[in-house]
Amino acid sequence: MTQKRDPCKAGSWSGKPYHSFSDYLWNIYGCRVLKIPINANLSCPNRDGTVGAAGCIFCPEDGSASPGMNGATPIPEQMETAKKNFRRTGAGTKYIAYFQAFTNTYAPPARLKRLYDLAVAQDGVIGLMVGTRPDCLPDETLDLLASYRRPGFELWLEIGMQTSHDKSLEFLRRGHANGATVDAINRVAPRGIPVCVHLILGIPGESWDDMMATARSLVDLPVRGIKFHHLHVIRGTALEEQYRTGLMRPLSQKEYVSVLCDFIERVSPDILIHRLMGDREEHTLVAPLWSLHKGTVLRSIEDEFRKRGTCQGFLYQ
Ligand code: SF4
Repeated sequence: MTQKRDPCKAGSWSGKPYHSFSDYLWNIYGCRVLKIPINANLSCPNRDGTVGAAGCIFCPEDGSASPGMNGATPIPEQMETAKKNFRRTGAGTKYIAYFQAFTNTYAPPARLKRLYDLAVAQDGVIGLMVGTRPDCLPDETLDLLASYRRPGFELWLEIGMQTSHDKSLEFLRRGHANGATVDAINRVAPRGIPVCVHLILGIPGESWDDMMATARSLVDLPVRGIKFHHLHVIRGTALEEQYRTGLMRPLSQKEYVSVLCDFIERVSPDILIHRLMGDREEHTLVAPLWSLHKGTVLRSIEDEFRKRGTCQGFLYQ
């Protein structure tokens, strides 16, 4: 009889109770690898009227860009500035060009190729990560992305899945259903492009069971990475109005840590965890304010796993 592997005894996650993307990069490349966020000045079909005009309920005007990213600045300049602003870098530091703001596959493939080529040609870049919506992935664009596959190059497609529940996608005003995400992921995988899904925990109306159902839905999908976010309220968004009128309550830190650990216990130990929570600058964040203390929250996630004696994949079936 074959024995089930105990993921908590695998000993391959640098002592962490989850399979961290940054540790994975360190082990593969033998150096620090940092993501450089890029704003390529692209739009979004959920803002330009194609799918919707108001955007997702949680999305600020900057299309969820990192602080200081300006789409009018040439990509090489954005990347140089980001490199200078990183606090902990050394001579051997490598970079992944991360197309983050707005929808980074929402343009003709020829234009996308020019943008991606420019970014990956910069000094020290060993990878490309492209963030997008599931309904903006025509086959020609996937073929373009697949053309960047090569040994020693870190290629990722980040898809905004958020949740597996259509009622929640409607609440978030995403303008697509979960079927679009499933379809996109299943078309990406045969092209050998690793998929990271962006997920949100704490969507109003979602029960614990609903969130665990999203975790279970990943079992059937060829997903290689997850980026977790708690639902946070950013200044100037439609979600802020809901928060201020009492229609929405963000999770407390304790609730988030608990449900996040529950979720991670149910995902495959092979999946890489790219991020455990969202963060914003203080002046743009309305709630919850506990996320301003990221180091403390990350420690409490590890503490929670240790207290439980569990880890990623402990309840994976
Ligand atoms: S799809 Fe992305 S860029 Fe577009 S409105 Fe939603 S979060 Fe913002």
